[in-house]
Amino acid sequence: MTISRRDLLKGAVAAGAAVAIPATAEARHEIEPLPDAVGMLFDSTLCVGCRACQSACKVANKLPEDKVEANGGVYDAPNDLNSTTKNVIKAFPAGDTQHYMKQQCMHCVDPSCVSVCMLGALHKEGEGKRDFKGEKKGTGIVLWDKWTCVGCRYCQIGCAFNVPKFEWFEAFPAIVKCELCRHRRDEQKSGPLAVANPACCEVCPREAVVFGYRKDLLAEAKRRVAADPQRYNPHVYGEHDGGGTQVLYLAAAGVQFHDLGLPDLPERSQAEFSESVSHAPYLYGVTPIALYAAMAFVINRNKKKEEAAEHGEEGKR
Ligand code: SF4
Ligand code: SF4
Repeated sequence: MTISRRDLLKGAVAAGAAVAIPATAEARHEIEPLPDAVGMLFDSTLCVGCRACQSACKVANKLPEDKVEANGGVYDAPNDLNSTTKNVIKAFPAGDTQHYMKQQCMHCVDPSCVSVCMLGALHKEGEGKRDFKGEKKGTGIVLWDKWTCVGCRYCQIGCAFNVPKFEWFEAFPAIVKCELCRHRRDEQKSGPLAVANPACCEVCPREAVVFGYRKDLLAEAKRRVAADPQRYNPHVYGEHDGGGTQVLYLAAAGVQFHDLGLPDLPERSQAEFSESVSHAPYLYGVTPIALYAAMAFVINRNKKKEEAAEHGEEGKR
């Protein structure tokens, strides 16, 4: 049996459509916090800016002193996160006083750093996509895997909180960000709470930052607001902002979170939005079918031109 080019072309189009239709992508659904997600609650009305948490973070994570500040790092504290600073306290004038804010990875419920990483070097512990040996399930901590990362730094661009930092001066550079001191176990606790043990929460003399299950921290934040509405901005930052975060914030009454360095974000996560946009053309296989149809049209047109040219040559002979 001989197969003509026309039959081959028809077969290719049919096969393309058959492959495309079952592979339809769906618009991305909203991601809920994991039931046992852990996180931190930072209450800026309690912080006095002593920076004990910043120093404890350096010690716990074996990070060297900063060398980029005005006095060469002799006494300066860094004014932002960098490749040797995973946790920083910043001062913001707001109203008639100074307010202190703690910045580190927010451990987003639906992190855009995870969404943009093409190789899966960043992932959420317990989300089920990666299963590293020894990982406890369900904490939702956003972890970085040095063996998978190729240093493209998309995560830096994707993060709305400007968190991941890059080791520019290392031969094998790493992405540096808080992992909630996941390397420090707390044997006094059980379950996911034993997995991480943030040094910053251990040392804070004011308990301005505390560690726990996200659901408990959220309830505690709401309890504080309800108990003293004159003291607090009623909004708990991170409950829904940017799709929700596992690090939650409280601010003083009359102080807006954007005045304290946190971005105004919609409730829909960036990851959900961007993945829905990029997947939409594949809904119902429209794009693959259209692509195969366009290819078939071009091939067919070229084939006809070729045949016409061949017949013209034969006519001359
Ligand atoms: S704050 Fe940035 S680095 Fe941290 S989980 Fe969210 S997107 Fe990722
Ligand atoms: S240790 Fe507590 S009070 Fe001191 S800077 Fe950190 S969060 Fe603020």
